[in-house]
Amino acid sequence: MGANPASDNFINHTKMGEKMDRDKFLIELNGIETDGKTVTELYNEISALAMKYGCADIKVNRNERRASYFSIEYLIGRSFYNNLMELGVLDDVKAVLAEKGVDINIFEEIEDAALGNGGLGRLAACFLDSAAGTGIPLDGYGIRYKYGLFKQKIESGFQVELPDDWQRFGDPWSIRRENEKTEIKFADMTVTAVPYDMPVFGKRVNTLRLYQAEGSKEAEKISEYLYPADDTEEGKLLRLRQEYFFSAAAINDLCKRYVKAHGPQFKNFDKFNVIQLNDTHPVIAIAEFIRVLTSEYNVTFTSALKIAKRTFAYTNHTVMPEALECWKEEQMEKILPDISDIIKCISVIQDRELNGMLCSDEEIAEMAVYKHGVFNMANLAVYVCKSVNGVAKLHTEILKSELFKTAYEYYPKKFNNKTNGVTHRRWLELCNGELAAMLDKYIGNGWRRDMTEIGELNGKTEQAAADFQVVKQTKKSQLIKYINEREGTDIADNMLVYAQVKRLHEYKRQLMTAFAILEIYNGLKDGTIRDFYPSVFIFGAKSAPSYKRAKAIIKFINEIAAKVNGDKQTNKLLKVVFVTDYNVSYAEKIVAGADVSLQVSTVGTEASGTGNMKFMMNGAVTCGTMDGANIEIVERAGEENNYIFGARVEEIEKLNKEGYEPVKLLEDPAIKAAVNSLIDGTFTDGGTGGFKDLYDSLTIGASWHKPDNYFVLTDLQPYVQTLLKINSDYKGSNSFAVKQLKNIANSAYFSSDRTIKEYADDIWFK
Ligand SMILES: *Cc1c(COP(=O)(O)O)cnc(C)c1O
Repeated sequence: MGANPASDNFINHTKMGEKMDRDKFLIELNGIETDGKTVTELYNEISALAMKYGCADIKVNRNERRASYFSIEYLIGRSFYNNLMELGVLDDVKAVLAEKGVDINIFEEIEDAALGNGGLGRLAACFLDSAAGTGIPLDGYGIRYKYGLFKQKIESGFQVELPDDWQRFGDPWSIRRENEKTEIKFADMTVTAVPYDMPVFGKRVNTLRLYQAEGSKEAEKISEYLYPADDTEEGKLLRLRQEYFFSAAAINDLCKRYVKAHGPQFKNFDKFNVIQLNDTHPVIAIAEFIRVLTSEYNVTFTSALKIAKRTFAYTNHTVMPEALECWKEEQMEKILPDISDIIKCISVIQDRELNGMLCSDEEIAEMAVYKHGVFNMANLAVYVCKSVNGVAKLHTEILKSELFKTAYEYYPKKFNNKTNGVTHRRWLELCNGELAAMLDKYIGNGWRRDMTEIGELNGKTEQAAADFQVVKQTKKSQLIKYINEREGTDIADNMLVYAQVKRLHEYKRQLMTAFAILEIYNGLKDGTIRDFYPSVFIFGAKSAPSYKRAKAIIKFINEIAAKVNGDKQTNKLLKVVFVTDYNVSYAEKIVAGADVSLQVSTVGTEASGTGNMKFMMNGAVTCGTMDGANIEIVERAGEENNYIFGARVEEIEKLNKEGYEPVKLLEDPAIKAAVNSLIDGTFTDGGTGGFKDLYDSLTIGASWHKPDNYFVLTDLQPYVQTLLKINSDYKGSNSFAVKQLKNIANSAYFSSDRTIKEYADDIWFK
């Protein structure tokens, strides 16, 4: 640890409650006139005040080594409550407003900043929070999209997408840096990148710098939408422009800052900078870095590449082939000819290096950054970066044994694992104040600063079980009330709550949950399932707008919900709800109120998952497969305190090898009844053909995949049995509450404070 980031060099205690002018802040806050103001006006006024005091103390230390995080997504959620909490004044603001007759909850009207899609973007936000929270110098770089992830409506059971105009409430947490704008050049246009800085509050104040594209109408398109549709050539090029746009702006920023502090000798660049690439989207930054050094600062190509090799690190997030980006040479040539040339030069050097290592032609082809007119961005990252990490133990093993097998053989030292985490400040302290207070009572409040202290709860789970049940019931009642109001349902607030909330994707297997619910429903109707504890299944998910099957699954779930909820014979026992517009703020409520976390991806497909960790921290047991971080969750909380089912990696491999015939499984009448409901007229897909396509995907497959590619039918019966086992274990009992508490007590490892410390110790500040 040459340059320990948590050393005294840095601003250590900017938390307002400890050091800053909290009194002045409160006096000014008291002076705010609330009468006659709209929620948006008040929101902007109070936020501006918090910014004024929260940022007052920021000092820039040019001699510290800093890490930069490049990510195309930041799924921030609502900043208001979280920032006030980090500044140590949330309770004060609440009290001052209450005196003025204003309930602090009115700011829930302010919608989330959803500059991200799912887990990857939320991880980036959690990392920034944890770095600031633990005193590590980490700044984020990304895009300030005008429209974030679409807002979802459900019409006749179908997903409808509406633009998310998040800035209409104002953006009081950002500062536009007019004098730090920079020009980004494409072959056919020049775009101005204007930085907006968002402070990230904690033990220190870090910065999230998001760039907005300005200039012509065409230029503005670059920061208009998160993930513009890329099913056309124009769409693909826009995606590439976005990636280059923010990567280049960020590289430009880091190089300028470096030169200002240390002069134009770049050989020490990596002593002051490390750049963590979040997935393949920002990998183009490597080429841009070399371009800037060689063309603007007279560094030789070989030296520039060497410096890049000491500076960049790469995190892989998925093994899904569609997410491992490749760009065609024509595409790159068309808008970024210099970058195209640079990657080709890297390729020549790579070739030489690999030949020198006596690699076979096949091996060279597998690792090639450029081959047959295609640039392989994951291979570029793996070749150049000093570190390559997966995001859970199993995922990293898969990288080493499959995805990057050959590279692992030649560069084993690059590979390492960094199991994901989530910030326990937002995902426990903020979203579950009742649980936080209960924990304080049993183990003191040290866990808020240092999550490892939560382990002390292990000795007190029996003692705390009754209290915990009260807390869970409170959070559940709040959640169900919120859902009933928003979704127009009439769910009772004392049901057992199973929740599956995450992006909609076939590999996450929401369809399997839908079938399982149908089986349970059928069993309740025909009397084969008895003594069933009243239960509700909560789904929340957005589907990519062009992903037809995912959209059909949403419709299918809504059809099931309508039928099940409308059946007077069973609807006291079983309810289903698909919540609309699932996002961070909804997630905060769902993880706090749920009893059971459904994490049922096909083994080998979910890199880590982070939703599973949020549920664990709030005391939901995991009902899941041995996939992603589920494995590490049960390793810590105990398999006996969770519910694991389904085929393991070896069994899936065996099925893949020996041939899998899902149609044979349809001989089981229970499975058949559930699956056939897609095509036997039980439900309607509104004439879209979506249900028939789902049925075909399971039974005959398609040109691009085998039948039942994700082994839904293989795992369905064990899943149903496990859901029923949970149901019979539950019955509102103390022993179930103890299981839930064991999960909380062993969740320290899944705080992103731990993850970020590992990045800092092993990669950034080694
Ligand atoms: C945590 C989170 C995710 C990721 O959930 P997974 O279950 O890990 O896929 C997605 N969306 C939102 C809004 C989240 O908060």
